[in-house]
Amino acid sequence: MKRRNYFSEVPDECDGEGERRKVYLTFDDGPHPIWTSKVLDLLARHQVPATFCVLGDRAAEFPQLIRRMVSEGHDVANHTMSHRDLSRCTPDQIGHEIAEANAMIHRACPNATVRYMRAPYGIWTDDVLAESAKGGLEALHWSVDPRDWSRPGAEVIVQTVLASVRPGSIILLHDGCPTEEAKSHDLAASREQTVKALSRLIPALNERNFVISALPSCQPRK
Ligand SMILES: [Zn+2]
Repeated sequence: MKRRNYFSEVPDECDGEGERRKVYLTFDDGPHPIWTSKVLDLLARHQVPATFCVLGDRAAEFPQLIRRMVSEGHDVANHTMSHRDLSRCTPDQIGHEIAEANAMIHRACPNATVRYMRAPYGIWTDDVLAESAKGGLEALHWSVDPRDWSRPGAEVIVQTVLASVRPGSIILLHDGCPTEEAKSHDLAASREQTVKALSRLIPALNERNFVISALPSCQPRK
């Protein structure tokens, strides 16, 4: 069912400047009124770019945060309207989830350029890939996942990333929480550990000569 024609690392040939130690920060499931703001504050303080894979229903609720992401130079990517498991959806439903999210991003910020789609839970099927391509979006996965959403402790998040990061790595973090999951228990939506981890992770990556960069626009390697 799955084909690997999404990308989870940035291949060398996409890297126009010949820089071999670029890494990429991505944040999923936002925007969130508390945590997205804190993440944006940290990125601004360290002057590093990121890609925010936002949910359409959250973008509709907090459009000012979409505008802030764009105005501060970050990429906004499509993480669907409502974070459904798309392997349980028909192609029409998948197309709708993607198109609605794009509409919400553009309603919040008409000049936003949306280049990427990230499937909820990283579940890529042929239909998901086809509908993403139909929407003109490149399929964006990740290669480093410290499972920050499970709140393992800020230090564990930092050390997990540092243990596996390498040039071209796309790092998955979370600034928000899908609406349904946020209802499951009180702390489900807390990204306090992610924010704390990020404040240590950015300097730690810099010390190791990694350059936190904006994702290039390139076709995934098949
Ligand atoms: Zn997600």
